[in-house]
Amino acid sequence: MKQKQLEIALSKLKSFSTPKPELEQYQTPAPIAAAIITLAINDIAGKCVYDLGSGTGVLAIAAALSGAKKVVGVEADPEAIKIAKENAGDLPIEFIQSRVEDFSGEPFNTVLMNPPFGAQKEHADRPFLEKACSLGQTVYTLSNATGGGRTFINSFFKSKNRQAKRLGTFSFELKATMPHHRKKATNQSVDIWKA
Ligand code: SAH
Repeated sequence: MKQKQLEIALSKLKSFSTPKPELEQYQTPAPIAAAIITLAINDIAGKCVYDLGSGTGVLAIAAALSGAKKVVGVEADPEAIKIAKENAGDLPIEFIQSRVEDFSGEPFNTVLMNPPFGAQKEHADRPFLEKACSLGQTVYTLSNATGGGRTFINSFFKSKNRQAKRLGTFSFELKATMPHHRKKATNQSVDIWKA
């Protein structure tokens, strides 16, 4: 599927009905999800892929539509899982309700994730990064481009004997979806890393 077609398909997916701030529920916008898949395609097509913190399923669905051999989404919130399953329709994706901390599964080729960045709970991204390194031969993760995010990611992966490469930076429009949001929308710079 071409990037533009993928973007159109993803733009039709349902979002979180009532996003939960404590879980940092922000859906990856369709154009960004489609661009990430294009960057990661060699580790997706024909490969087994985990989406950790799969939310409404955007990245898992994008991977399935792009020829992944097997896709498993892991997500703590049962309401999000329900939406993800609706979004996935007939696509062969397994969604497992579990906190990433408690999840154990067989190693896969690839982990693709947009985890919490730790805006609500400091270091909420850590268990995701830990689990991603134990499950995935190759890890693609989104992370905050500002506020020390880059230094942290580099040193985290180094400590796991992995070399992290920053593949690009996107501007995320964060719409005011939650009660604590004061502005209508803000922009956040987000990096995509491969490690
Ligand atoms: N990957 C989705 C959602 C990103 S938002 C997308 O790209 O659109 C982050 C997701 O992580 C939310 O769905 C949230 O419920 C989930 N999450 C947060 N903490 C979690 C944890 N400890 N274990 C599993 N999922 C978690």
